[in-house]
Amino acid sequence: MRLTALLFAACLVPIASAQNRYDPIVNPLKAKGLGELGAYKLLQELSGGIGPRLSGSLNAQRAVQWGMETMEEMGLQKIHLVPCEVPHWVRGDVEDLTMADGTKLTCCALGGSIATPEDGLEAEVIEVHSLDEARKLGDKAKGKFIFYNRPFDSSLVNTFAQYGTAGDQRFLGPAVAAKLGAAGALVRSMTGDADDVPHTGATTFEKGGSKVPCVALSIIAANKLSEALKAGPAKVKLTLKCETLPDTPSFDVVGEITGSEKPNEVIVMGGHLDSWDKGRGAHDDGAGVTESLEALRLIKNLGWHPKRTIRVVLFMNEENGGRGAAAYADYAKTANEKHIAAMESDSGGFAPRGFGTSLKKRDIGRVNKWLPALSVFEIDHFTPEGEGGADVDPLAPTKAVIFGLEPESQRYFDYHHSDKDTIDKVNPRELELGALSMATLAWLISEDGL
Ligand SMILES: [Zn+2]
Repeated sequence: MRLTALLFAACLVPIASAQNRYDPIVNPLKAKGLGELGAYKLLQELSGGIGPRLSGSLNAQRAVQWGMETMEEMGLQKIHLVPCEVPHWVRGDVEDLTMADGTKLTCCALGGSIATPEDGLEAEVIEVHSLDEARKLGDKAKGKFIFYNRPFDSSLVNTFAQYGTAGDQRFLGPAVAAKLGAAGALVRSMTGDADDVPHTGATTFEKGGSKVPCVALSIIAANKLSEALKAGPAKVKLTLKCETLPDTPSFDVVGEITGSEKPNEVIVMGGHLDSWDKGRGAHDDGAGVTESLEALRLIKNLGWHPKRTIRVVLFMNEENGGRGAAAYADYAKTANEKHIAAMESDSGGFAPRGFGTSLKKRDIGRVNKWLPALSVFEIDHFTPEGEGGADVDPLAPTKAVIFGLEPESQRYFDYHHSDKDTIDKVNPRELELGALSMATLAWLISEDGL
């Protein structure tokens, strides 16, 4: 053996022996999970079979039914629905944005947009790069389209950080435009992928405030419009037919393996059942739903009996309201049980890298001790005071420790909320590794406590 190889082998010893302690847990999980790839089979049913499932739609109802039936087939306990009333926004069948010279700009309505007059809305465009720049327009904005065109900051490595620094244009830009008396808002898609596919997503208007028609432009369309504006003033005509129908009854789907020693101590794993109407909600968030179900299926089928209750919650309406998350948080407050941990996967079905957690840096040792087990699935860190997820964050007042799966991030926003979020973008082994990471963490919390 050469010296370098010997040194390398010597370095591996402590890690290997630390892993041995967890071999009885991770080895059977690994063999079964990677052998059967069950998460992907579930994703074929949900994303491939049912498809897009925006809150209030028939497909969202089908997804609830599917969730119940899947849990029944798995033999979970205490399967039930938590009711919630969800918004019911529909896109309509016309989305057209045309420049004065007849050039078409590819766009899609943002969730929550209102329609334009039937024969469209024509106005001049003003390009801005921030909400502040828009606000400073004052009266100049009246009757114009405000065009938010700040791109993702490509110097940031993690794409969620890129989304975080550009996202205000979509969340709040249309509301700012409405307040200024603008005709509408055009928003550069929240992606770094420079193609002609627009990315939708929720926008929020002030309660009782005025609303405007608003769309996301593909990156190619945004660049085209920006180029045209460099040459001088430009007009566009927008036609949209979206509408908001009355709220609709819907549900979270809940099932569990009840704890054998401490049934009142609950560990939640989940993802959101609803998706946008573009694409088929494969990564967002078919991945989180199927990883959570698969994690519990593996534990059950290995014949393990957790000391504490491990529960899967499939949340409704994460994308445009968070009503399912609020309903489950209310239920958790009144249920005679203690939520000790709540874990969500809503960052795509890519290879897992870490977990965000609500634990502070000084407390991170409480979970870092499990990294030798999780490292088998290539999880190498917990991020203190990190991201949980929109569905589990409302459980923080129950004193539950919050966790969010952190997969590799580079491709997520290429697909997010667009026609490209389809099952062919999901790798079955990467998805399964996410499920295995969640199964391992849930099992260790169940056995050791937190
Ligand atoms: Zn999501």
